[in-house]
Amino acid sequence: MEKNRIYGPVPSRRLGFSLGIDLVEYKHCPLDCIYCQLKRTTRLDASRETTVEIEEVVGQVAAKIATGARVDHLTLGGSGEPTLYGQLGGLIDALHERFDIPVALLTNGVLFGDPAVRAEAARADVVLPSLDAWDQESFELVNRPIAGMGFEAFMDGMIRFRQQYRGLIWLEVMLLAGISDNPDVISRLAAQAARLKPDRIQLNTPVRPPATDLAIPISRQTMTMLADLFKPPAEVTADFPEPAGNDPETHVTTVQVLETITRRPCTARDVAVGLNAPEGEVSAALRILVGEGRIVLSVQDGKDYFKLPA
Ligand code: SF4
Repeated sequence: MEKNRIYGPVPSRRLGFSLGIDLVEYKHCPLDCIYCQLKRTTRLDASRETTVEIEEVVGQVAAKIATGARVDHLTLGGSGEPTLYGQLGGLIDALHERFDIPVALLTNGVLFGDPAVRAEAARADVVLPSLDAWDQESFELVNRPIAGMGFEAFMDGMIRFRQQYRGLIWLEVMLLAGISDNPDVISRLAAQAARLKPDRIQLNTPVRPPATDLAIPISRQTMTMLADLFKPPAEVTADFPEPAGNDPETHVTTVQVLETITRRPCTARDVAVGLNAPEGEVSAALRILVGEGRIVLSVQDGKDYFKLPA
């Protein structure tokens, strides 16, 4: 039986309605970021492999689009690092051939030291890499890379990618209280970000329950104050606007709700928008899943998030 490789469309603060495409094993990643929404990395390595055939992914995307769901981006991301997928370039080409929807790549950029990965990633319309550190010490503290992965080698791969890529780079910077929340540190982080010549810099903070208690969000006010220290000035990634309304004819199952929660912690509203379903039905399904112990409730910044149990 085919494994489901797509999720959403989910409302994304940066990509509008984003149809997520999950290409690798759960938490297969060369980093183990302290702020990861997907909990601790269970497979920490940088080996590429083909986990699913291209035709299977394209077929699943086609089926979702045929439902009439709004899709602003086809987003390669999911529950691990998508550049670990061995047929990344071929898949991006196939998506371009079949659909008239821009392809976005969410990546930590760690594999950009490999010319083959750079060439494949460069076929995406927009690449959204992450930069959260400014030196080796902060790289190890925040991103916890595989053994032997140095910060300068990481930066070198990212810079090489920028030099050869003609598309858009939107750099995400995750700011954390007590780690990257003061002007001295931000100046150093901004200097590293400038080396990558991104088209946009977008500041984020862990508003959803993170992998560890070490990742503490900073306030919007502090973020706004720090944004001007970047060049170009950074954007504070705004909360996605409230949806206009969900389709009362859509009925959700606990399986659909659980699939969405498996990808990332969500509020009831997030799930309702992603599945285009009435929030009341989603809330009922969430209550059942909590009662069965398959998900748990976690309050973050006064909001109720649902996530997988630890
Ligand atoms: S945040 Fe992204 S790069 Fe970091 S551990 Fe999670 S999946 Fe990997």
